[in-house]
Amino acid sequence: MKIITLEEHYADRAIMNANNAFNAERPPMPPEQEKAMQFLMSRAFPGEELLDFDKRLEFMDENGIDAQVLSLTSPVSDLVPADEAVKICKQANDTTKKHMEEHPGRFEGFATLPMADPQAAAKELERCVKELGFCGALLAGRYKGRFYNEKEFLPIFEKAAELDVPVYFHPAFIPMQVQDAYYKSDAYSYVVASEFASAGYGWHSEVGIQVVRLILSGIFDKLPNLKFISGHWGETIPAFLERMDSILDKGITGLKKNVSEYYKENVYITPSGILSKDQLEYTVKVMGADHVLYALDYPYVEVSDPKGFIENSSLTEEDKELIAHGNAERLLHLS
Ligand code: CA
Repeated sequence: MKIITLEEHYADRAIMNANNAFNAERPPMPPEQEKAMQFLMSRAFPGEELLDFDKRLEFMDENGIDAQVLSLTSPVSDLVPADEAVKICKQANDTTKKHMEEHPGRFEGFATLPMADPQAAAKELERCVKELGFCGALLAGRYKGRFYNEKEFLPIFEKAAELDVPVYFHPAFIPMQVQDAYYKSDAYSYVVASEFASAGYGWHSEVGIQVVRLILSGIFDKLPNLKFISGHWGETIPAFLERMDSILDKGITGLKKNVSEYYKENVYITPSGILSKDQLEYTVKVMGADHVLYALDYPYVEVSDPKGFIENSSLTEEDKELIAHGNAERLLHLS
């Protein structure tokens, strides 16, 4: 069975250095926050696997992964001025393209976009799709605390709809005020609070909210052809669709459809390396097998037998093929 995975990250030293030069200008944080940030940053860069493409190909070959859609591991920092962000993103996308060319058929690309300048981001997305052969964009977290349903970001989604490529919503560190208000406690350490606020739960919740905010802002009434991808089995949203339909129905929102209708039509779900049999069965039940794609979150999640996860599942052979590669080929226009 052919396997294509969608949320697979890499890093590049030159891009990390360009980004870090601006991060160094960040004002100092209180010592406990600094300690927690250092810990989280060590997780954000787990090791050479992000840089080493021989190791990556070895992993793919050992596990029967035919192709990965590559994305840069971390977004360009909010501290980078817009013109520099445009430059760094171009450099990153050209680097992704280099990896695609060096290993034909093994890698596809999601664009990294300069969110500081949405018009330039839309232009860069067009360049990535039309000139570099990328299959969409991956957006991480929010920009300077702003969610992407704000009007200024609309050109990016208009361009994605026009090009018929999906936008993948990926988590990133949440704003410190949100972290302190919701996740900090005297009853546990700041490191625990920071993990709770990020990969332990908080940033997933934020991405789920991000997608629902875009739906509620009427993005799919404006752009019915637009498609989103949401990782981590939809960041808890699939379990709340009935509730949203009953509380946030179209009588209240003024939208053409209820939330679940947009969600099931315009949103696609991946596991992001959470290889849970129950989640797979549940998500296929809620979304339909044609809206579930595969992703391992390489190299952040250690997975065992990713091919067996699909092959040994209770799904029909037809549905297994869709999730393993068929949906990716259709949605990302892979030949
Ligand atoms: Ca990831």
